[in-house]
Parts: sequence; structure tokens; C-alpha cells
Amino acid sequence: MAERTYDIAVIAGDGIGKEVMPEGIRVLEAATRRYGFTLKQKWHEFANCDYYARHGRMMPENWKEEIGRPAAIFFGAVGWPDIVPDHISLWGSLLQLRREYDQYVNLRPVRLMEGVPCPLAGRKPGDIDFWVVRENTEGEYSSVGGRMFEGTDREMVLQETIMTRKGVDRILKFAFELAQKRPRKLLTSATKSNGIAITMPYWDERVEAMAKAYPDVGWNKFHIDILTANFVLKPQIFDVVVGSNLFGDILSDLGPACTGTIGIAPSGNINPGGEHPSLFEPVHGSAPDIAGKNVANPIGQIWSAAMMLEYLGETEAAAGIMTAVETVLKQPALRTRDLGGSASTQACGKSIADALS
Ligand code: ATP
Ligand code: MG
Repeated sequence: MAERTYDIAVIAGDGIGKEVMPEGIRVLEAATRRYGFTLKQKWHEFANCDYYARHGRMMPENWKEEIGRPAAIFFGAVGWPDIVPDHISLWGSLLQLRREYDQYVNLRPVRLMEGVPCPLAGRKPGDIDFWVVRENTEGEYSSVGGRMFEGTDREMVLQETIMTRKGVDRILKFAFELAQKRPRKLLTSATKSNGIAITMPYWDERVEAMAKAYPDVGWNKFHIDILTANFVLKPQIFDVVVGSNLFGDILSDLGPACTGTIGIAPSGNINPGGEHPSLFEPVHGSAPDIAGKNVANPIGQIWSAAMMLEYLGETEAAAGIMTAVETVLKQPALRTRDLGGSASTQACGKSIADALS
């Protein structure tokens, strides 16, 4: 670590993943030159649908050995539904990585940038700047349950929510620590303890207990119904928002949707202990409708690169990338088509790399 050298696994994936990844790498390489650290890239030609077409699976059996122990995984997008149904491509790659590497945090910034049209009326850059932290391994997304009395008039289904002390506490700890690093130091918890009478009161109880360990962090809780309304009506009141798997899933899509195009939103799938590598990827998918046309917005991939550097401790480089992104977004001619411009994927990536140099 003394030489600030980081091994990263690079998986471009499918569709526009193959186009935005080289731009993410272009900007990362510019950052290494400017900020004096080294990235050792190992590219993997699996976890894509061409690999599936040749081998009948998304990743080789020994994928873990192939990936080894990188400091992080830099991921593009996976899926090409003409060749492989989405549930197979996703489960055979990204979701398997998340599970095997116990990436129990899904982290997404919600930040309004100049040059990005905001669907919320009257909002300016600076008004919206918060993080959504989603629990990624348990909660409502369990497969415990089933159907009973099928075909009779007593037919019923039930599905359990599972919350463990370990699972709840570790996500709350991550969220409180993130809030502690922010100027406002405010944590908001998503709950529904007025309707979900067993698991959600437990969640609230754990938030209250965890808060005692972070006396410098303020906290509040909102029921998920009013919380989602406030994402739209009063986004300026949030700093770090934490939710269970289901609530976090909804909030982590709603948040970026409130700040404009899907083409710029990044995400981290994080294993905070560092026992396993964390994975950074744009929120968008492989977008077959625009793939191969050199029009995809590379900023989601580039912002994911900034998140990865932040995670690796290269804070200055991460901030430098974000400043370069902001500089480019301010100039209409440098924007891609989804933002009303006509710059190509490559031209946009190159402008950001140049702004960084
Ligand atoms: P997922 O693969 O996550 O299920 P999806 O396949 O439904 O998502 P995306 O691939 O994210 O969706 O694409 C949704 C829409 O957004 C498409 O019309 C696509 O063209 C557009 N889009 C996605 N990413 C970008 C981008 N980087 N730049 C411009 N448009 C994009
Ligand atoms: Mg898709």
C-alpha cells in the first residue's frame, strides 16, 4: 500500500458496458497520472453473454481463482436478452459476485448536477445531495414461505422477512459511519413500524441502539410512505438514508430518478470489512437499444470510478474526477444525447479525462 498500487479486476460485460468501460478506464488512467498512484488492471472476458454463448454459463467454474484478490472490481453492465434471459445472465454473474463476496451494502449517491435536467420543479444543484444505503442480503428478499391449499377456496401464500441482529447492525454501522464523515452528520432510517408490527419495530430498536455509539450523528426515522413523498417534495432534508433490502431497493431507484438521467448514476456494492473485494458499477443496464452506436453516456461508469477511488482511499483523485465531470456537464456541446447534446461516448469520456489532466 505504501506505493499506492491497487489491483483492480475489470469486467466490461455486455452492450453499452463495452463502450462506457473504456471511458471509465481512460479517466482512471488520467487520475493515476495526475495524482501519482498506480492501478494494475486485469480484464476478464467473462460475465458477459458472448461467454455464455460459447460455454453455456456466464462465468468459468474457477472464476474466483481467476479474479483472485483484487482491491476492487470495476464492472460495466451485463445482459443481452436476445441470447440469454435476464434472470440467467444476472444471476450467473453480478448477483453471484455480490453473494459470494458478501457485498451487503448497496450504496448510491443522489446528487443534482448542473447541466442535468431535474424532474423536480425549481430544484438547483446544491439542493439535493445525499446517499442511499440499502441492505443487500436479507430482509424482505428471503425465499422462506410458500403456497398452501392451492386450488381451493382457502388458497394462501406467505413469505417471511428475515432480519438478523448481525445483518441489521452491520448495515446500520456502515450508514452511521458514512453520516459521521459528512458535514451535516444526519442519518434517516426508513421504517414502517406502524404497519409491519414485528420486523420493523426491531429495525427501529437497532437504529436507536446503534445511535448511542455515534453521539455526534443526528438521526430520525420516517415511515416509507412519507419518506418516498419527501424524496420528491423535500429532498434537501436528507443526508444519509438507510433502508432494509426492500425499502432500500425502492429508495435507491427513486433517488437517482429524482436527479435526472439514468446515464450518470453510479453505485457501489460494498463489503466494508475488506475481507472480499467490493464492486463498483453504473446503475444503468446494458441498454441494447442504444448499444454499438457510440451515444451512451459514460458518466455513470466514470462516477463509479470516482466512488471506487474514494473507497480505495484515493480521496483527492475521487474529488478531482467529480470536479472534471461537473466541468464537462456545464458545457452543452460536451454532453451526450440523453442530456440533449450530441457528443459521442468517447468524446464525452475524453473531455472528462482532459479536464482532469
Ligand atoms: P437492467 O439491465 O438494470 O434491468 P434495463 O435493461 O431495463 O435495466 P437499461 O439498460 O438501464 O435498462 O436502459 C434503460 C433505458 O435507459 C434505455 O432506454 C437505455 O437506452 C437508457 N440508458 C441506459 N443507460 C444509458 C446511458 N449510459 N446513456 C444513455 N441512455 C442510457
Ligand atoms: Mg437490462
